[in-house]
Amino acid sequence: MSFRTYLDWNATAPLCEAARLAMSAAMEVAGNPSSVHSEGRAARGIVENARENVARLVGAEPRNVIFTSGGTEASILALTPQIADGNDTRVRETLLVSAIEHPSVGSGGRFAHGQVRTVAVTAGGVLDLADLAAQIEPLKQAGSGFLVSLMHANNESGVIQPVEQAAEIVHAAGGLLHVDAVQSAGKIPCDIRALGADLVSISAHKIGGPKGVGALVKAREEIVVAPLLRGGGQERGARGGTENVIGIAGFGAAADAARTALPSVGARLASLRTELEAALQAIDGSTVVFGRAASEGGPSRLPNTVLFAVPDVKAETALIALDLAGVAVSSGSACSSGKVSHSHVLAAMGVPDELSACAVRVSLGPTTSKADIEKFTAAWTAHVANLTKGRRGIAA
Ligand code: PLP
Repeated sequence: MSFRTYLDWNATAPLCEAARLAMSAAMEVAGNPSSVHSEGRAARGIVENARENVARLVGAEPRNVIFTSGGTEASILALTPQIADGNDTRVRETLLVSAIEHPSVGSGGRFAHGQVRTVAVTAGGVLDLADLAAQIEPLKQAGSGFLVSLMHANNESGVIQPVEQAAEIVHAAGGLLHVDAVQSAGKIPCDIRALGADLVSISAHKIGGPKGVGALVKAREEIVVAPLLRGGGQERGARGGTENVIGIAGFGAAADAARTALPSVGARLASLRTELEAALQAIDGSTVVFGRAASEGGPSRLPNTVLFAVPDVKAETALIALDLAGVAVSSGSACSSGKVSHSHVLAAMGVPDELSACAVRVSLGPTTSKADIEKFTAAWTAHVANLTKGRRGIAA
């Protein structure tokens, strides 16, 4: 039994058993998927089987899955002015992204800095659809080609975005919609057609697959994205380079496992999260849970995510105290932890820097148990009590 309690699944999920087995088996296959001999065909079989499983996770056709080195590369592949959609070959002059995107999207991909516009979010961490519509209107009037990139669920707050409504606005104006589903795929239903997305990014390591593999998925074959890596014509010419067969094998197995487990896991995690939030309030009545208002009045959050803060309880020290107590959590986004910078997500929600510095993210996964939640709450209780004692000591 491990001493550690891992509650940082939004940063990365531990490798699941199905992925481990699929990867071990793939390691025994010597061939290059482009070779015609038996060894090559065996490797090709692994890649195509994984492609089917990844496609099924998001309700797409296997031929529309482009394997990449991860979610970041998938989004940068999508974010280019050169995307044709059948006969619509207009250059996309403008990219619109929300203020809470992951840096892989927020940095604008292959668009020039001046071509990127930011759409506001509400205090609840939800995309402001009115701002989106207002920014799109002049592009529509001008008949200008544009791309919108929105996340399905935010990695820090877990807030699920109104992607379906955004898709209607985007498509009515002749634009294309890319959705970063890196945090939502495998955690909540994520069907490319139901979302109204033209392109979707996903990543293996968020769903129990290996790190360093992902996919850009297209809603239809007619969408053609300018390649980021030109080479030997792999991935139907969309991404050159011999495929990461072992990683892709793990991705496919993890996608299959996540899709199968989704209905039962989601409900169980939502109930553990409710318990956790009740415990946080009981420990300190001034606890703020970010994005919860969203779930009370409209779109909800991922069932596995809590982003909270207790005023004056700094996240940086809390993380160290929790780590020493055997609990791994994160402060806001793991990709930016290590840097002393405030969360751009909380800033976009209007959260003051002093409170943002206290934001702790706890994210659960399929193997999280009630005992894990109890271990976290015991460690959190001890940390908050220590701080309070310390402050009393100073005051005395
Ligand atoms: N998009 C979101 C919302 C993420 O949370 C992350 C990773 O944290 C990424 C994209 C990047 O994915 P990858 O680590 O596979 O490059």
